[in-house]
Amino acid sequence: MANTLNVSQALKAPGQVFPFSMTIEVADADVFGETVRFSPAEATGTLLGAGETVSVRGELRCEAAMACARCLRPVAVPLRVEIDERFSRRTEGAEDDGETRAIVDSCIDLTDCARELLVLELPMRVLCSEDCKGLCPVCGADRNEVSCTCLEDAQSASEGTERPDEEEGRFAGEVTNPFSALKAMINSDEEV
Ligand SMILES: [Zn+2]
Ligand SMILES: [Zn+2]
Repeated sequence: MANTLNVSQALKAPGQVFPFSMTIEVADADVFGETVRFSPAEATGTLLGAGETVSVRGELRCEAAMACARCLRPVAVPLRVEIDERFSRRTEGAEDDGETRAIVDSCIDLTDCARELLVLELPMRVLCSEDCKGLCPVCGADRNEVSCTCLEDAQSASEGTERPDEEEGRFAGEVTNPFSALKAMINSDEEV
């Protein structure tokens, strides 16, 4: 097993800190509707044994390949996460309870833990560049490479009419109306 680490030293010498470094293969993950690929993750840190448990502290570095949210081109996303996990010899045949993972034959398996930590660290969306022009929703062209005028045509047709109306409508509906309605009630009470 490639992603396992022998922790027998830490189990034999509780209270002593053992440095470690290893490479972890991380499987693809389906996140936010897209398949994210991970480069092999570099894990470095320390092992600290305490009776039946071993604490793993350190960091994980890896690069994820995600699609640009606008043009779908692959973007390399560097990830760096802290590891702070506990492994135990006493799991009594049960599955990992979420807080403590199992030590099997004096080895710990960092596959699941690394993947979970890296997936949590993924950004919601990435852009290949801040000014990526994206794909044209009308003709589908990559607007970084092709300059079609579909969007400009659609925007100039709607701009100047829809936007100001929207804003006025929102303020009139949510802010002005309740007060003027109240005012009208007070005024009518006074008049009676
Ligand atoms: Zn892009
Ligand atoms: Zn277009």
